Amino acid sequence: MRRRHAGLRRVFEDESTSDVSAANGSLICVPRKNAEHDSFPVMVPRSEKRLAPVSPERIRRLRKHLIDVLLGLRRGGAIKPAASAVAPQPDGFSGVVVRAACALCKGVCCRHGDDHGYIDDQALVRVRRASPRLSDEAMLELYLQRVPAVAYRDSCIFHGKKGCTLDRSMRADICNSYFCGGLKAYIDSGAAPEPTVVIAGDTEKMRLSPVLIP
Ligand code: SF4
Ligand code: SF4
Repeated sequence: MRRRHAGLRRVFEDESTSDVSAANGSLICVPRKNAEHDSFPVMVPRSEKRLAPVSPERIRRLRKHLIDVLLGLRRGGAIKPAASAVAPQPDGFSGVVVRAACALCKGVCCRHGDDHGYIDDQALVRVRRASPRLSDEAMLELYLQRVPAVAYRDSCIFHGKKGCTLDRSMRADICNSYFCGGLKAYIDSGAAPEPTVVIAGDTEKMRLSPVLIP
């Protein structure tokens, strides 16, 4: 595995394995002799959560949260928070790496989405600006309809089997702009595209992407 960005990771020259310090702080053990030997490694965590039917209680809590945010907006009258812009996904090869990483990781960063999904006033004002005729009731329905039948336990209520069930335009800013340590370091490095492998998780549960070619 190629040594690069010493601040991002350390590679120990062991005979059989290389311990790699992941940006999320955990240590993972990567076989040194593998097909990905010459590829640039990007390390992310990996979720092991199980899917479960979304309970009525969870939906009730989401409904209450949304109603609270909508009532807050009504109380604010003319004083509305600025609608937040939808942060775009990274494009080009960085986008390819991000999509591969998040698919392998299966959404560890969504674990604190709970039954609110981080939906806040800025997100709702953005949705309202895009559809000015949308009533509060219709807005509520819009979000409730996106709750999947099954979602990952102990994660966001919108965290379904295939990922987030909300369009980016409906998500909170944090959901559109957050990258975990490994991905952020990769994106911020601005490195020229090169063959890259995503390493998700640690020890025996680690998964590798195919070699991603620019
Ligand atoms: S940003 Fe990081 S933690 Fe979140 S889904 Fe993508 S790889 Fe996983
Ligand atoms: S709304 Fe979507 S992106 Fe945001 S925490 Fe929930 S599942 Fe993740």
